[in-house]
Amino acid sequence: MPLADIVMSMGPAEARWWHTEGDRVGCDLCPHRCAMDDGEVGRCGARQNEGGRLISLTYGQVYVKNVDPIEKKPIFHYRPGTRVLSLGTFGCNLGCRFCQNAVLAQPSGRELPHQAMRPQEVVDLAEREGVQGLAWTFNEPIMWSEFIIDTARLARAKGIYTMINTNGYILPGAAGELLDHVQVANIDVKGFTDDHYRKVCGGSLQEVLDTCALARSKGVHVEITCLLVPGLNDSEGEVTALCRWLVDALGPDTPLFFYRFHPSHQLTGLPEQSTEVMERAYTIARGEGARYVYFGGAAGGERQDTLCPSCGFLAVERKSVRSTDKVCVKGQEISRFCPTFARVTAAIDAPRCPRCGTDIAVWLSGW
Ligand code: SF4
Repeated sequence: MPLADIVMSMGPAEARWWHTEGDRVGCDLCPHRCAMDDGEVGRCGARQNEGGRLISLTYGQVYVKNVDPIEKKPIFHYRPGTRVLSLGTFGCNLGCRFCQNAVLAQPSGRELPHQAMRPQEVVDLAEREGVQGLAWTFNEPIMWSEFIIDTARLARAKGIYTMINTNGYILPGAAGELLDHVQVANIDVKGFTDDHYRKVCGGSLQEVLDTCALARSKGVHVEITCLLVPGLNDSEGEVTALCRWLVDALGPDTPLFFYRFHPSHQLTGLPEQSTEVMERAYTIARGEGARYVYFGGAAGGERQDTLCPSCGFLAVERKSVRSTDKVCVKGQEISRFCPTFARVTAAIDAPRCPRCGTDIAVWLSGW
């Protein structure tokens, strides 16, 4: 039975993925596999053992909502120019030292102002706003997977797609259920060594790669993002390994975003990522066979257009400007990742190049 039907009020609701271990409950949502005594909260801050049941503290708890272009998520190859209702709650199961939304991601984010919404209320709002999709973003959407599933079911019946912007750090059982209700995913691959994941992000690499492959195998439209942090994950060898994996495991048509690091959270002592390293990553990716490689994290037209991979025809043009409609939580601007896209123009009306006939991997219409 959907959680929406059993929630008596919009307080905490029973979680979907857990088991008992004697007097403790074990969470089966993410690879941390927290085991909690009664009253104890998991590492993410979003799940709690309450009297021997695992409770989702985030179900229906909306901390941020805003209407955005899908390009802002970023998603470039799924229905360009459509608009999404973006929603975020609190909590995260990783602890990235470069986090751009730490105010929401940390367990203390729970104390911030928020409102309770039911799945139907989210879909009603999306319809009133006239958006084509829902985007679960800002914090880690895995934290409210149950709410996403219940809402996505209703949204799909109204022709509204569901997109997640996720770290992919989720166990396969839960991932399979969540991804059955998701049409579009941007998955962060935060580096390409387990060492980077363990030391900088508080997780591990393989589970993230498995989620990417699972999403692809389920027919989810997948795009990949990697934030290039100076000296931590941007070596020639590591970027090459990432690009080789992308092409082999997900296919050369999978869009790849390199994000430019700006000093943030616990890494304010590092410099901004250099243009040279960004360009080197672009050259490596194209050399490894990735057909659609983009830059993110800065306003301007730098590597944001979709070109025909054969003849260079300008298939989708994107003009971005620095965002003026800031979303702030507790005085801190919340990252929505890309600058605002002032204009998106698709010069193709079928998924092939009008000049040379090459297939261009852009979904122009819905599922
Ligand atoms: S989702 Fe949260 S409570 Fe569950 S295993 Fe992961 S960190 Fe622990």
